[in-house]
Amino acid sequence: MPTPYNMAFACLGCRKSFKREFDLADGCPGQLVCPECGGPAYNFGRHFKAPRKNDLKQWEKVAYLFEHGFRFQKIRPTRDSLESVPYPDTLAAAKEFVETYKAYALKPISDE
Ligand SMILES: [Zn+2]
Repeated sequence: MPTPYNMAFACLGCRKSFKREFDLADGCPGQLVCPECGGPAYNFGRHFKAPRKNDLKQWEKVAYLFEHGFRFQKIRPTRDSLESVPYPDTLAAAKEFVETYKAYALKPISDE
C-alpha cells in the first residue's frame, strides 16, 4: 500500500500555506501554483509550521531560510543519530543557522 504524505506548500507573497497529499513513489513537485495569487507556492515538506499570516517577522525568516536552501528539511549533523537540529525562532538566529548548517542546504528549486 502506498503511503500518502501530507506536504506543506507556502506562498511567500500571500503568506499562506496549504497542504497537499502525495504518494512519494509518484514524486512530489517542488512548487505549485498558489490558489490565492497564482504565483509560486513552494514545497516546504512535511515539517513546516506556517506562521500566522500577519506575523511578518516570522515570514521574513521563512523566506530567508528558503532562499538559502532550508525548506524545513530535517538536519541531522550527528552521525548515527536521529536527533535533528531545531529551526531558528528569529531572523537573527536564522542568519547564524544558515551559516552553521550551509553544508545541509538544498539546491534551489528550478523554474519549470
Ligand atoms: Zn500567493
